Amino acid sequence: MRTYDSIQTDLSAGVATCESITQEYLGAIEKGRHLNAMISVFAERALEQARTVDQKLAAGSAGPLAGMVVSIKDVICVKDEKVTCGSKMLEDFVSLYDATVVERLKAADAIIIGKNNMDEFAMGSSTENSAFGRVKLPHDPERVPGGSSGGSAVAVRAGMSTTSLGTDTGGSIRQPAAFTGVVGLKPTYGRVSRYGLVAFASSFDCIGPFGLNTKDVARVLQAIAGHDPQDSTSAHVPVPDYLQSLTKDVRGLRIGIPREYFAEGLADEIREALEKHIDRLRDNGAVIEEVSLPHTEYTIATYYILATAEASSNLARFDGARYGYRAKGIQDLSEMYTKSRSEGFGPEVKRRIMLGTYVLSAGYYDAYYRKGQKVRRLIQEDFLKAFRSVDCLITPTTPSTAFKAGEKSGDPLQMYLSDIYTTSANLAGIPGISIPCGTDHDGLPIGLQILGKQFDEPTILRVSDFLESTFEEGSGN
Ligand code: GLN
Repeated sequence: MRTYDSIQTDLSAGVATCESITQEYLGAIEKGRHLNAMISVFAERALEQARTVDQKLAAGSAGPLAGMVVSIKDVICVKDEKVTCGSKMLEDFVSLYDATVVERLKAADAIIIGKNNMDEFAMGSSTENSAFGRVKLPHDPERVPGGSSGGSAVAVRAGMSTTSLGTDTGGSIRQPAAFTGVVGLKPTYGRVSRYGLVAFASSFDCIGPFGLNTKDVARVLQAIAGHDPQDSTSAHVPVPDYLQSLTKDVRGLRIGIPREYFAEGLADEIREALEKHIDRLRDNGAVIEEVSLPHTEYTIATYYILATAEASSNLARFDGARYGYRAKGIQDLSEMYTKSRSEGFGPEVKRRIMLGTYVLSAGYYDAYYRKGQKVRRLIQEDFLKAFRSVDCLITPTTPSTAFKAGEKSGDPLQMYLSDIYTTSANLAGIPGISIPCGTDHDGLPIGLQILGKQFDEPTILRVSDFLESTFEEGSGN
């Protein structure tokens, strides 16, 4: 497994080329087939791209990510390649254009190696909801890697790409990062363009990177962040130099510990691992303060009302007429809609569409959707208040470590509860990062989450990088 630093060292020492590095990653993909992390692999295309970047390196004109090999969650468009969204509905659907994030990665001379497996339409927390089969956790294939960006997390963990892009609507980058022991960043809403991302819940969806360390995640963010005229919700906020924020110095930083995130339901080993890291910050000059986010108990309910409402509307376009799957042997239009949707969507997607349609329906709109919007505001205000006295917050990423396949898939409520610490950042539109901070008694990774103010990715990256530098090499402790 390589970080981008090691790639750069080998490239400049002349002991590797982008082509040989790409070959290495293709080898790891082959070796890791049983993990089912990839839906498609662009071997020829990636090697061709690598040769072009090698020429640019020789000519001194290569971009900032030259030789970095990236895999992309299969909900983001790469021109002329399939974008399945983990669904039978889009099994054979080919993208007509590059998403802005892909265009920017290519412009920086990153090499795109393939697409990652995922929960269907990014709905799920275990990557068991994929039409292409479940993704396995490298540490223990009986377990799940989290979701919905499980394939993107495993690709990085198993050395199939240097970094990857996932999406986070309610935790889908941070939760799989925690389960697989890698770094995963959900940027501020609007920091990264969503153009070319197939929508799940448009007011929540964010694209962000996975990497083996904070530096690589910062590098990818640097390349993909910034306003895009193709996405009206992308922000006109200047992009700072993220690498410069990795100072390894946390003196004077005020860090809040939200009391509600350490309450009942949190595994003891996770609490203990976090406490050790919080002590480390205190010992190095950070000021630790307990804070309260009083509306925390409403986050799961609010998220699952609002996100399903948006999903039911966004997924209306998949009706057999224009995009993807159309049922066979249909007699009329209504039958085409019904059969195509019944056959094309999996059970979790149907559940979300029904829930979302219900909360938006006349008679229930006020009780659910409108009320959900009001509570979303209260949750946002909780964070605004907390950020008056602290610079960032530290919480667990998940209440437990990776669970067994099948353990929660029959009980949607239990599955939804695994998002308890992550959905709030999407409701509030703030950035969050999950970093590995140790392992439990089964050797399974534990994730620590750092939440920041809107557009203050520099602070959470700084804390993340600091904590990483204090881990013991190899053990993650
Ligand atoms: N697990 C959450 C859900 O199922 C979050 C998904 C996501 O962030 N895409 O909705």
